Amino acid sequence: MWKVLKLLKPFIPVHFQAHSFVDKLMWIKKFSTFYVDKILFFYTFSYAKISLNIEVIEKMEQQAEIWHEVKNQLATQLESNTFEEIFESVDSVFKVRNNYIYLLVDNDFIKKRIEMLYLKRMNRILENYVSEKHEYRLLTKEEAEEELHHEKSLEINPPDHEAFDEAYLNSNLNSSYTFRNFVVGNSNRLAYTSSLKVADQPGVVANPLYIFGDVGLGKTHLMQGVGNYILEGDINTRVLYVKADKFVEDYVKYSSKKKYTEFNDIYRNVDVLLVDDIQFLAKKEKSQEEFFKLFEVLHDQQKQIVITSDRKASDLRDIMARLTSRFAWGVTVDINRPDLDHRIKILEKKLMAETNDPSLFPKKVIEYIASVFDNNVRELEGALKRVLFYCTAFDYDFTIENAEIALENLIQPKKNSKNFIKDKLQNLLSLVSDYYNISTSDLISKKRKRMYLYPRQIAMYLIKDIYDLPYKKIGSYFMNRDHSTVMHSVEKIHNDLQIDKDLKIDVEKLKHKCGENA
Ligand code: ADP
Ligand code: MG
Repeated sequence: MWKVLKLLKPFIPVHFQAHSFVDKLMWIKKFSTFYVDKILFFYTFSYAKISLNIEVIEKMEQQAEIWHEVKNQLATQLESNTFEEIFESVDSVFKVRNNYIYLLVDNDFIKKRIEMLYLKRMNRILENYVSEKHEYRLLTKEEAEEELHHEKSLEINPPDHEAFDEAYLNSNLNSSYTFRNFVVGNSNRLAYTSSLKVADQPGVVANPLYIFGDVGLGKTHLMQGVGNYILEGDINTRVLYVKADKFVEDYVKYSSKKKYTEFNDIYRNVDVLLVDDIQFLAKKEKSQEEFFKLFEVLHDQQKQIVITSDRKASDLRDIMARLTSRFAWGVTVDINRPDLDHRIKILEKKLMAETNDPSLFPKKVIEYIASVFDNNVRELEGALKRVLFYCTAFDYDFTIENAEIALENLIQPKKNSKNFIKDKLQNLLSLVSDYYNISTSDLISKKRKRMYLYPRQIAMYLIKDIYDLPYKKIGSYFMNRDHSTVMHSVEKIHNDLQIDKDLKIDVEKLKHKCGENA
């Protein structure tokens, strides 16, 4: 072998010989065939004066082939963009030691992404190709370089569990909300990628990150995903998760005892602040004032702030404008309801976490649950757990019939309430259109004339006021008007009612009629 190397050496360009090992590796990679790869290994290791025996080389060759297979599997499982961005360039096994297979990656960013999101999956796939337990580890170019020159040990220090527990305790994070178990689809893709970017570079790319959407759609999960990702990556980062109402509670508690320093110690000594459900600051002027100061202090120091809310910052009511306007300084993303395919994927993921053998649970039962529970993910998850519990507790098969029985109490009111609300809404719409002498089709149309627009806004207001449906849902009865149009209409009528007595009478009459026809 060495003879072959010696023979080859004169053919290796001089400028190439002058470069660092890893650059050479990358250079060769571009032109490499399997054989060039082999030569590369001999060459580089001779360069680093690491003595390798044939057995080690064979092991590496074998692992390089296996990695090729694992990579192919990943390509079929991941979205093509993700695969290209993360895995396309990972094609060298750097070394195999103590059953750890070290893959070489271009940079820290890719290393971190893989470790956080894909390593477990890679190791699971790997199990199919090796008889003995092996695991992947990752090394960047720089680390490999250092390793070769200093021949330093690569054994990663065992994590300090106590420090980890303490960091978690202080952060208030729930470690089960991670990016790994968050299922991405059209309804949350932007929110997910933005969160990931923020977690990769806290305080740099989007500050604050503002996530909004209806209840049960994954805002808290995603926000905590950011915190967990950061903490897992660096245990010394001070992450703090707090619900806005807890912030208010704390402020009242500490300020009543004049313990401002203690309060500031908790909230200002952080690197990442995650504030959930900011709408709960409404009407709490003193707490808003305090939060405003906190925001300024942290933002000035480029500390990352993430905020969630049930609505856009501009639609927040009873929160001071100078605060809400700051929420729009960074990046705002929304989360919507998942479509059927996405709901199925979420259920499949939850199933993997809940059972040892998800294959026992037929796909058609998953599809059934996903088709019934279309409102939010929390409901969807609850339904799955219920079916699992019912069938396992009584040792029944997972069939649609059994799922129906298990979910009876949840589905019946849902079905009833759907029809019930639908009838009520039809009634309300025809009452309003009769009252204003226009047709129902004009009432729900997109025509902008005031004779249609005003009754339409009143109808939206009445639906919100009487049935308290989500804005988006109300919009769906008016030719799919969006969430914010409905919200503005409702707010406009709400404000007009304070000053317009005639309107007040009209609205009261209409409410009364709706009640009579109930
Ligand atoms: P929100 O804060 O928007 O009300 P949560 O984050 O509390 O919603 O989510 C409700 C439940 O649904 C949680 O158990 C969460 O793990 C789950 N969930 C929501 N979206 C997803 C998703 N895309 N993938 C996996 N689980 C999800
Ligand atoms: Mg939440």
